[in-house]
Amino acid sequence: MDNLKTEPLELWNNVTSKMKKVVSEQAFATWFEPIKPVSIEKESLTLEVPSKFYYEWIDSHYGNVLLEKLKEITGENLKIRYSVVIGEPISNSNKVDTVFKDDGLISPVNEYYDSGSKLNKRYTFDNFVEGANNQLAKAASISVAKALGETAFNPLLIYGGVGLGKTHLIQAVGNEVIKDNVDTKVHYTTSEKFTLDFISAIQKNNSSKFSEKYRNADLLLVDDIQFLQNKEQTQEQFFHTFNDLYQRGKQIILTTDRHPSELNGLKDRLLSRFQSGLIVDIQAPSLETRMAILQKKAEDDGLSIPFEITELIATNVRGNIREMEGALIKLLAYSSLSHSDINMPLAKKALHETLGRSESKKLTIDDIIQSVSDVMEISEKKIIGRGRKMEVVSARQIAMYLSREIVGASLENIGLHFGGRDHSTVIHACKSIKIRMKNKPDFKEQINSIRTKVEL
Ligand code: ADP
Ligand code: MG
Repeated sequence: MDNLKTEPLELWNNVTSKMKKVVSEQAFATWFEPIKPVSIEKESLTLEVPSKFYYEWIDSHYGNVLLEKLKEITGENLKIRYSVVIGEPISNSNKVDTVFKDDGLISPVNEYYDSGSKLNKRYTFDNFVEGANNQLAKAASISVAKALGETAFNPLLIYGGVGLGKTHLIQAVGNEVIKDNVDTKVHYTTSEKFTLDFISAIQKNNSSKFSEKYRNADLLLVDDIQFLQNKEQTQEQFFHTFNDLYQRGKQIILTTDRHPSELNGLKDRLLSRFQSGLIVDIQAPSLETRMAILQKKAEDDGLSIPFEITELIATNVRGNIREMEGALIKLLAYSSLSHSDINMPLAKKALHETLGRSESKKLTIDDIIQSVSDVMEISEKKIIGRGRKMEVVSARQIAMYLSREIVGASLENIGLHFGGRDHSTVIHACKSIKIRMKNKPDFKEQINSIRTKVEL
């Protein structure tokens, strides 16, 4: 790089100061601080990272942003080369260079569908774990991919909460389609990117290029259309793009975070278009599905994670899948940085911080008593009191059982909170709740629903 007279460290510092603005403090500390810039040669910047896993994570999650920032700073299409340190962490430079990814270079993603398609290759149907929560969405996506433009599912609209797999699924359609036929033009975009493109087209007065870009697609994937809310001109533009594609039998797949009927600030005619094909949802996955997803992710990374650890993560990180993955990644980062195996103590440590960060609340025995009191409409005073009325005893036992299950409190401690009872009383309570749950499905369901409310 002749015209780039800068030191690697200087350049890297510029990049990281930009990255700081776009990633969380935590992510920055975990992923960027350990990186060491090594050299600038030819057309690439070489970065030293602590492990192969690190490289993969940075590449898949921040690769594009890093390239963008590099371009902003240097005005050049610099590539990034990663070298992995084996042995001691970076400060100690007794390293063996291993460079990954084909030629070891990461090329900037191509803007256009005909070459780059903007799809993340990692998102496939194969690694999209099926559960009751996403079955229909997955089946519909597969149908669309297998018979592009020939199903009645046009548009296919997938809605569901954040981090539940919408992007993964629609990109899987794109990847599948390209796999079968490289000539098919797939274009993936987000509604935000669509908006930006549109604005920039207006500014630069080249709306024909804009139209061409989107209207050439055989399969147009538009992620997160909720961001079109209140952007009337962009909606208008989108409406035309949509109609044009639709009339020519091209497939459109959209995602949104809620059912279209709940999308305010969207023109009716656009809404009715969105609803004219098939609408499917993705719900939050069950514990089993969450565990299966984690196992799959670990497997794909070539790791074997003990069952008890996936269980620990899946039970404790209850938000979306992305958060759960974050916990897994954190654990891997811990293990890779400390050169230790992935085991329970390490997992607990890594998870502890993750839980501390997400605002997942730590429930106390008193919280449990209060919630049970609310749900069962029996005063707290009665619950911890001495009354022997059947429903009061039942509420008391449920609260004791949940204190044990959710808070993990000791028998003595629970006894103490329930008016100074003996630990044997607590044992008895837990046992009798368990027996009732086993014998009466209704009761079990009731307990589970109380549990859910308590944990909310
Ligand atoms: P959304 O677009 O709904 O916010 P994403 O598609 O970005 O969610 O998913 C978040 C993360 O969770 C991704 O890394 C994705 O691979 C993963 N994920 C979600 N659902 C599944 C699933 N069923 N199987 C495997 N991975 C999943
Ligand atoms: Mg998404």
